[in-house]
Parts: sequence; structure tokens; C-alpha cells
Amino acid sequence: MAGYDYDLFVIGGGSGGVRAARVAAALGKRVAVAEEYRFGGTCVIRGCVPKKLYVYASQFPEHFADAAGYGWTVPEASFDWQKLVANKDKEIARLEAIYKRNVEGSGGETFHSRAVLVDRHSVYLVAEDRTVSADQILIATGGRPAAHPALSGHEHCIFSNEAFDLKELPKAIMIEGGGYVAVEFANIFHGLGVDTRLVYRGQEILGRFDMDLRRSLHETMEKKGIRILCPAVSEWVRKNPEGRLDVLLSGGQTLTVDQVMLAIGRIPNTENMGLEGVGVELGKTGAIVVDQYSRTNIDNIWAIGDVTHRVQLTPVAIHEAMCFIETAFKDNPTAPDHDTIPTAVFSQPEIGTVGLSEDDAIKRYPDVEIYRASFRTMRHTLSGRDEKMLMKLVVDGSTRKVLGAHILGPDAGEMAQLLGIPLKAGLTKDDFDRTMAVHPTAAEELVTMYKPTYRVKNGERV
Ligand code: NDP
Repeated sequence: MAGYDYDLFVIGGGSGGVRAARVAAALGKRVAVAEEYRFGGTCVIRGCVPKKLYVYASQFPEHFADAAGYGWTVPEASFDWQKLVANKDKEIARLEAIYKRNVEGSGGETFHSRAVLVDRHSVYLVAEDRTVSADQILIATGGRPAAHPALSGHEHCIFSNEAFDLKELPKAIMIEGGGYVAVEFANIFHGLGVDTRLVYRGQEILGRFDMDLRRSLHETMEKKGIRILCPAVSEWVRKNPEGRLDVLLSGGQTLTVDQVMLAIGRIPNTENMGLEGVGVELGKTGAIVVDQYSRTNIDNIWAIGDVTHRVQLTPVAIHEAMCFIETAFKDNPTAPDHDTIPTAVFSQPEIGTVGLSEDDAIKRYPDVEIYRASFRTMRHTLSGRDEKMLMKLVVDGSTRKVLGAHILGPDAGEMAQLLGIPLKAGLTKDDFDRTMAVHPTAAEELVTMYKPTYRVKNGERV
């Protein structure tokens, strides 16, 4: 638009912001992105990517142990935490450069600066001490771990951000929370040899997942040696004379550990960026309120990703960015589709899931068929590892539509991605049944469970 410095100004250089900037610039729009920390955002810098690298690192002890059954003698292994952190840093720096380059290569401009809204078309760049103007503004500033000021001694605690870069690997850690982050980090630290306790306030970890998976993962984690204390919360955290941390739990038990990590959810980054001054509406949690097209109450200001507190997942932010481009620049109003999102928890074993859990399906459908298989994978026949894989399909008994698919076991995340396609397409159990199995794989169970394990009719298991 004539009169403005840019057609689009993006605040936040994470997955969502960078995607929107890159695609808009490739359309020939004049685009700039401001990022105050590092390009790549939570996912690349202190989330999904370093997490997955640490998951790989933490899996080696089991691989070494499993090798014996296959005839290998593996000498005693040792682990160097500082080397892992340094190698992770190198990889993150490489990806960060690619993110920045992707914007610039498409013709967009990048600023390493905090950006504050001055009015509905102006942004003040703090590091540059100047104001620029834009026709459209997109806020994609993400979120950060929720603090816990009510916990006495919370200042001694760390969050996932710090966990990635600890100077020393702790001997013992307590993690508070029962969601994705808490469960993934509990498995990472345990795998790296840390004495790990998970403290969760609810009855069972991973609230939003299928109960079968939650229970089975809980059991398997305990069997590996991760202590899960639930329902429980910490009452206080105190530094003791040895420099370690004492934690009093709600049941009266005291734990002594080297680190306490809080993983109790994430909150949107919306403070001190001029939103209130411009009149952008915020919700109760501080999240930016948007309509179905990611537009705020100010019609040239948009928001996508975690800052809107819809679904806090990287692929969702990227999808929202693509829909924003269609709506704002292609005259094709497109609402993001948040239905049937496949997801994985990189616990050990992994969870991969898409669609309705058994409990949710029963609430919505009068006749539900459950197909369930629990078995030892072929890999563990010779390794001798006592670990079961669990697969479950939730099917609408009247239409045969597959409503949910849930997996616990190796590569469950990879399988969830593929299962996302038939579930999104609304395929039926009959479509699964007439699909040829790939043999020998674990995934073949998904197309060979011919008879329901049980049905649930009007809430009653029959
Ligand atoms: P989650 O929302 O998944 O879990 C938060 C946990 O903290 C819940 O178990 C919650 O309990 C508990 N909790 C909340 N408040 C308190 C409190 N005051 N005291 C004690 N416990 C509390 O958040 P995470 O931080 O684990 O992850 C944030 C988001 O990041 C996730 O929702 C997910 O979308 C995304 N993510 C995705 C990953 C992936 O795709 N693999 C990996 C990591 C993160 P309750 O259940 O009772 O509410």
C-alpha cells in the first residue's frame, strides 16, 4: 500500500511469523519481521528441536542394553552433557540462520529488535530507535513457560528454557506438571541417568489423551525407574546447606534434589508491546483474541500461533500463517482448521495420537467400537525388554467411521502423522480392513484388528 513503509510487518520470528513473512514476501509484498531474541522461536531455539535431539541422546542407554540380545557386547558407556549441549547449540545456530535467510531470500527484511505498537499502523523498533509504518501487522510473539509465584521458593526453580542449557547434569531432579513438557523432560532426564521424580496434581498424567495410553505410559515409566507422584503438588522449595533443594509435597513427603523444574503450561507473550494502547483485545490469560480468520478486533492487526492460545503446536501456527496469507493477501478468506490434529508426545515409549479418545467418543456417540492390541514388538523378542506396544482404534459403531487412533510405542509419532490422513479424510474401519498389511511391522496391527475388543453402547461396556 502506498504511504506505508511495508505492506506487512510481522512481530515475532518463530515458526508462524517467519512462514507468514516468507510467503508474503514471495508474493511480492514489502515485508519485515522483528525478532528480539533469536529467529526460529520456541520450536527451534528452546522447544521441539532441541527437545527431540535430547530425546535421541537419552535413548542410547536402552539401545546399548538391548544390543546384548542381538549378540553385541558393548563396553561401558559414558556420557558428556556439556558435549551434547554444545552440539545442540551448533545445530540450533544452523537452523536459526536458515530461518533468517528464508525471510531475506524471499525479499523480506529482518530486524533484531523488540517491536512495540505505537498505533494501528506504526511499530517502534526499540533497538533501532525508530518507528516504521505498515498496512497490515501480524503478531506472532508466541509464549513462555508459566511462572508459579504462589509456590514458596519458586525462585529456586527452573523451566524448560533453562533445562536445555544447565551447566551440569543434575544427579536428581523433580519435575512438576503432567503435560507434554513435564512427561517428555522426565523421560529425557531419566534416560541420561538422572534420578527423576514427576509430581502431578491430577489422578493420571497427560490429561488430554486416551486413558489407556496414559495408564500404560505411567506404568512403563515407573518400571524404568521414573517415580511418578500423583496426585500431589509441591508446597515449598528450599535451598539446604549443601546447596541442594528440599521440596515438601502435599502428602507430607520431602524430596531432596539438585533441580526443580516447573512445567505447568505456557502463557502468551503480550506484555509491554503496546497492545492495550492500540486497543487490541486480550483474553483472560493475556492471549490475543482473534476471530476465525486470526484477525483481532483492529481490522489490520492479526495474530497467529501460541500468542492466541488456541492450539499450542508448531504445525498449527504454520497452518494459521498460511490461512492468514490467503485471507489478507489473496482475497480468499480461509479459517484455520483445528479439527483432528495429529500429535505426539516424545516420551519413552512415544505416544502418537489423532482424533477422539475412547472417553470423548463415548460422550458423543451412542455406539462405539474399540479395537485394541497390546503386544511385545519383534525388536524386543531378542532384546528381552519387557515393554509392550499399545494400539487402539475408536470407531463409530453405526457409520464405521474411525474416530480416534492411539498408539504407545516406538515410532508412534511417525505413525500418528500417517494416521492423520485417513482420519482427516473420514475413512471407515472397512477402509482400514481392506488395506494390505506391511509385514513384518508393528504398524500392521492397525489394519489387522478385525473384531472389536469391546463395544460401548450408551455408556455401557458390552
Ligand atoms: P500442558 O498444558 O500440556 O500441561 C500443563 C500441566 O501442568 C498440566 O498437567 C496441568 O495440570 C499442570 N498444572 C497447571 N497449573 C499447575 C499448577 N499451578 N500446579 C501444578 N500443576 C499445574 O503444558 P506444557 O507446559 O506441558 O506444554 C505447553 C504446550 O506446549 C502444550 O499444551 C503443547 O501444546 C505444547 N507442547 C507440545 C509438544 C509436542 O508436540 N510434543 C511438546 C511440548 C509442548 P492439569 O492437567 O491438572 O491442568
